[in-house]
Amino acid sequence: MLEIVSFTLGPAQTNAYLVADSETKEAAVIDPAWDGHLILAEAQKRGWRIAHLWYTHAHFDHIGGAGAIADALNPLPLVALHPNDHVLWRAGGGGAIFGFDIDPGPEPTIDFYQGQILRLGSVEFEVRFTPGHTPGHCILYVSASDVCFCGDLIFAGSVGRTDFPGGNWDQLVDSIKTQVFTMPDETRLLSGHGPETTVGEEKRNNPFVGG
Ligand SMILES: [Zn+2]
Ligand SMILES: [Zn+2]
Repeated sequence: MLEIVSFTLGPAQTNAYLVADSETKEAAVIDPAWDGHLILAEAQKRGWRIAHLWYTHAHFDHIGGAGAIADALNPLPLVALHPNDHVLWRAGGGGAIFGFDIDPGPEPTIDFYQGQILRLGSVEFEVRFTPGHTPGHCILYVSASDVCFCGDLIFAGSVGRTDFPGGNWDQLVDSIKTQVFTMPDETRLLSGHGPETTVGEEKRNNPFVGG
């Protein structure tokens, strides 16, 4: 069964999600935003083994805790990211513009692609490719648990910015309509910033893409 621990960390108040299969205790961190030691301590407390780091996209505030997590793990976690965001990853996630020089941790070696299935024990995560906020943005959908980790694609009452390098408004809207609004209305959306919401709530009330 999927278990989820949420954190809000770092200078951009980014949500990081520590997820695990409760039977095997195999764990992943979706967007290890910042302060990796806090995420590690929580995993240790629960007896979970972090084997994967999964990035919805490579902005610095979503990967800033990766180095500290990887430094404490042996074997190293496998890092997964869509190839279209590798340039951004190599550029430190764009943090230099904001004065942040992060330790990006191990190089991503697993390439996300549309329809890919990731497994933690018996829990299956479906990768959906959702460019717009960045060229390689992806979301992770667990249909059996009615939950989707949606990064900076869509927020409660808002959507991801498209004014950073590689952003594209038309792509963002298309990604939301084809990849998020096609999930059941009751699906929980766990975003990269702010409180959780649902697909149905955003379909009805999101001022940018709903109504
Ligand atoms: Zn972002
Ligand atoms: Zn963000």
